[in-house]
Amino acid sequence: MDTFSYSRPTSLDRAIQSAAKSSRVKFVAGGTNLIDMMKLNVERPSELVDINALGLDQITATATGGLILGALARNSDVAHHPIVMRDYPVLSQALLSGASPQLRNMATTGGNLLQRTRCVYFRDTAHACNKRDPGSGCSAIDGPNRMLAILGTSKDCIATNPSDQNVALAALEATIQIQGAKGKRSVPIAEFYLLPGTTPQRETILQPGDLITSVTLPPPAPGSKSLYLKLRDRAAYEFALASAAIVIKVTAGKIVSARVALGGVGTKPWRSHEAEAALTGQSAARATFLKAAEAALRDAQPQSENAFKVELAKRCLVRALTLSVA
Ligand SMILES: Cc1cc2nc3c(=O)[nH]c(=O)nc-3n(C[C@H](O)[C@H](O)[C@H](O)COP(=O)(O)OP(=O)(O)OC[C@H]3O[C@@H](n4cnc5c(N)ncnc54)[C@H](O)[C@@H]3O)c2cc1C
Ligand code: SF4
Repeated sequence: MDTFSYSRPTSLDRAIQSAAKSSRVKFVAGGTNLIDMMKLNVERPSELVDINALGLDQITATATGGLILGALARNSDVAHHPIVMRDYPVLSQALLSGASPQLRNMATTGGNLLQRTRCVYFRDTAHACNKRDPGSGCSAIDGPNRMLAILGTSKDCIATNPSDQNVALAALEATIQIQGAKGKRSVPIAEFYLLPGTTPQRETILQPGDLITSVTLPPPAPGSKSLYLKLRDRAAYEFALASAAIVIKVTAGKIVSARVALGGVGTKPWRSHEAEAALTGQSAARATFLKAAEAALRDAQPQSENAFKVELAKRCLVRALTLSVA
């Protein structure tokens, strides 16, 4: 690990000014991802700006019935918050399916949004990796790639976005509040993540110095239900092979509205408008769910070792839809 300087500002402006100086200055929140990356020499910041004294840990109901999650709200606090459990169970379930209780007590809403891929080559500096070292090649395409993505991939990177939280936030149509050197802006989560294309090192629209201050959840539609289902190699402490986040409203047996996002299979949290189109206006029945699953995975491009994920993701989605309307 390289030497680095450390500061713990108490004002947002100070934190942003410090980080805007260089892309080698990094914010640290829970540290559960960044410090790992530093120990592996994957991240080599010149300076760490600790944002834990900025008071961004509040969870606040909005006047219109939505919820604002401070960027430093811990994953455990969000998952167990009574409003989240009541109005956004998909988020509570997604968070509780991730990592371990100890990690969730440290991990934050903002840090989770930006956690890096678990692609083994990204984490091992002995191997070529376009995401870590642009232009060096992708070791995963011809190597063990069982865990990697089948949707949104490019010839330069097939890494999966590993987060559970972010799949739920995609289905909830969350908005991310950002403050940077040029002021404040709000970005819908659908516009926050970038596909790898030829620049897999760029994962989001953030610029150096941009600080995520909060995430806003819109009010839940009256009568809607939500659910998260995660399939993985073992029942706990494991990343998703496939997961599905559902927000659905059914009236008199017909699906009035549906939002679907998939995890474990995409290079970003994967909203499936194709599945939603196949569901909306149709009967809440298995035949409809099967069509939605086919639509969601139609463009999947499996790699040498992960073709099983196509069928697994379809079954995950059908099961999640079945449970969500039960
Ligand atoms: C063993 C293990 C198992 C895990 N299993 C799962 C799992 O099953 N599912 C899952 O979803 N996750 C899992 N995780 C990942 C975990 O959820 C993340 O490590 C955690 O959410 C990161 O949050 P943090 O606050 O610790 O981020 P940090 O490590 O502090 O930061 C991560 C990144 O975000 C940046 N950052 C942090 N906050 C901000 C902000 N407010 N504005 C701008 N940039 C910011 C940092 O600069 C850094 O680049 C696992 C982690 C471990 C170590
Ligand atoms: S899949 Fe992406 S992260 Fe993994 S080795 Fe290839 S370029 Fe790197």
